Amino acid sequence: MSRKPADGDKRRSASARAGAPKKQVARSSSAKKRSAVAAPVTRVFRPRSRDAGPPDLAFRIGHGYDAHRIEAGDGVTLGGVQIPCVWRLIAHSDGDVLIHALCDALLGACALGDIGKFFPDTDAKFKGVDSRELLRDVVARVDDLGYAVVNADLTLISEVPKVAPHVNLMRARLAEDLRVSPGAVNVKATTNERMGHIGRKEGMAGHAVVLIALRGDRSA
Ligand SMILES: [Zn+2]
Repeated sequence: MSRKPADGDKRRSASARAGAPKKQVARSSSAKKRSAVAAPVTRVFRPRSRDAGPPDLAFRIGHGYDAHRIEAGDGVTLGGVQIPCVWRLIAHSDGDVLIHALCDALLGACALGDIGKFFPDTDAKFKGVDSRELLRDVVARVDDLGYAVVNADLTLISEVPKVAPHVNLMRARLAEDLRVSPGAVNVKATTNERMGHIGRKEGMAGHAVVLIALRGDRSA
């Protein structure tokens, strides 16, 4: 949760590039078929002014990554589930790397920056905070932009503790916060094969990928 705010200038320049005229090229019949399939997506593209937020694309995708150090302790919270073990996560919040990665993926999909921008680890308000509260706040921002979550895929990279027995409860809790069914949330865990800092049990990391879709009431 200690990242710099997103660079708005970069986003604006990216938007400007997206609006640049495209070169005319001869297209094969298969290319024409592909463009016909893609037509419904391009039809809802309504670019707003450069500073008014992301354009209303039908679908947007986001990726998030987070890592925290671990040390001897009495349990960790991952995917919104408290897991008793001989480790603890070192963090300003509860250190839930899976939820933090998920928040970043959602904010990334919306071009809203990152988790450090909204919940700075220098703010005492977020000390020891339940990361599910942060996730629900982020999902509300996604909703405000007219989007709903389609699905999420999360990966934990850690040597300890064993999380397999807790995966289904994680999926249920994350699904509740994401306003989707548990079937739209996947949580998987892998070790780092004893390599590097994760392999030495100095920390753990989480990755998340999410897809969001413009709600029907916004695409008409
Ligand atoms: Zn974090």
